[in-house]
Amino acid sequence: MTASPTWDLDEDHEAFRASVRDFVDRQVRPVVDESERAGRPPAALLKEMGSAGLLGLAVPEEYGGGGGDMLAMIVLAEELARASGGIAVTALVTGYMAMPHISQFGTGEQRAHYLPGLISGEKIACIAVTEPGTGSNVAGITTRATADGGEFRLNGTKMFITNAGIADVFVVAARTAPDGHRGITTFLVDAGNPGLSLGQPLRKMGWHSSDTREVILNGCQVPATAVLGELNRGFHQIMAAFQLERILLAAMGLGHAAECLQAAISYAGDREVFGSPLLSFQAARHRLAALWVELEAAQLLTYRAAARLDSDHPGTAIAVAMAKYHAAIAANRIVDECVQIFGGSGFLEETPVARHFRDARVLRIGGGTDEIQLEVLAKGLGG
Ligand SMILES: Cc1cc2nc3c(=O)[nH]c(=O)nc-3n(C[C@H](O)[C@H](O)[C@H](O)COP(=O)(O)OP(=O)(O)OC[C@H]3O[C@@H](n4cnc5c(N)ncnc54)[C@H](O)[C@@H]3O)c2cc1C
Repeated sequence: MTASPTWDLDEDHEAFRASVRDFVDRQVRPVVDESERAGRPPAALLKEMGSAGLLGLAVPEEYGGGGGDMLAMIVLAEELARASGGIAVTALVTGYMAMPHISQFGTGEQRAHYLPGLISGEKIACIAVTEPGTGSNVAGITTRATADGGEFRLNGTKMFITNAGIADVFVVAARTAPDGHRGITTFLVDAGNPGLSLGQPLRKMGWHSSDTREVILNGCQVPATAVLGELNRGFHQIMAAFQLERILLAAMGLGHAAECLQAAISYAGDREVFGSPLLSFQAARHRLAALWVELEAAQLLTYRAAARLDSDHPGTAIAVAMAKYHAAIAANRIVDECVQIFGGSGFLEETPVARHFRDARVLRIGGGTDEIQLEVLAKGLGG
C-alpha cells in the first residue's frame, strides 16, 4: 500500500521534487536530531541550501534569485517538512517570509546590499510583526518608529520571532502614524544594532530546531534608508507577503502528513497484532485510505491556491485562506491518526511521528490562525 500523490506535476516540477528530496535525504535528515537538540539547524546547512539554489526561488532572476514559481516553493516546503518542521521553517522564514519583503519592496540599494548574502545562505533574515499584546490583529501593533532628524528611533517589543537568534537582518513592523493599518511601516534593522536585544530562546511544544525569541527595540536608531517600501504602507506589504507565507505553511502541513502517512503504512505492514499484520485488518486499512483522501484534498486546495497566486487571480486570498485552514487542520488530524497506528511507540519522544505531531500543531496558529482564515472566508461569503 502506498499513498503517493496523484496530482500530476509537470516534468520540471517532478525533476525539482526529485532533486530537493535527494538534497533533503543527504543534507537535512542526517542533522535533524542534532538540530532538535541545538535549537537551530547548523549554519552550514543554510549555506548548503543557498548553494543548491533553495533559498532564492522567490526572488526574480534579475535580482540574482531563482525566479521559481509558487508550485516549486510548495514542493520545497513539502519536502523540507517531511524531514523536519523546525528546519523547514528556519529556511522558509529567511528565504520566503522575510526576504520577499526586500526583493518586492526594497530599493535598488537595499536589494544589492541584502539579497546576495540571503540567497546564498551566508546571511539569515527574520520578520518581526507579532507583539506580546497583539498577533492576529496586525493593525494593532504598538511598536513605534519616531522620526528624529534624518533617522528613526524604534521602541517596542516583538514576540515569537522565528530566526531572531540567528538573524543578520530583521524586517520590523512599526507604527509611524496613529491611525490603525494606515500608520505602519516596515524597517530593515541589522543585528548588532545597539538598540536591539533578544530574549532567551522560547521553549516550544514543537519546531525544536527553530530559534524563536522575543525581540526588544529600545531606542533602536536606524537611518531613513532603512525604511522598507513606502512609509505607512507596511500593513499592505505585510498582507501581500502573507499570501505566500500561508501557502508555505499549508504546504508544510502536507509534508508532515505525507511523511507520517508513509511511515504509518509501512509500520502497519510490519507490525503484527493478534497474529497478523495490522494492515490486514480492514479497520486499519480503511483508516489509512481515509487519511490518504484527506491529504489529497488538502494538497489540491494548496496547489490551487498556488496557481492562483502565480496568475494574480482575483480569488487568490480566498483560495489561500481555504488552503491554509484546511491543510493545517487536515495535517493535524492525519499526524494524530498516524501516532495512533504506531500505538505506544508513536508516543515516544524519539519517534519521527511524535515529532511531526508536535511540529504540525503550530500550523493552525502561525501565519494567521484557523479563526483568522475563517474570517477571511466569511468576508468572502458576502451577504
Ligand atoms: C512558533 C511560532 C513562531 C512564530 N513566528 C513568528 C515570526 O517569525 N514573526 C512574527 O511576526 N510572528 C510569529 N509568530 C506569531 C504568530 O503569527 C501569532 O502567534 C499568531 O498570528 C496569533 O497571534 P497571537 O498569538 O497573538 O494570538 P491572538 O491574536 O491573541 O489570538 C488568540 C486566539 O484568539 C483568536 N482570535 C483572534 N482574533 C479573532 C477574531 N477576530 N475572531 C475569532 N477569534 C479570534 C485566535 O484565532 C486565537 O485562537 C509565531 C508564533 C509561533 C507560535
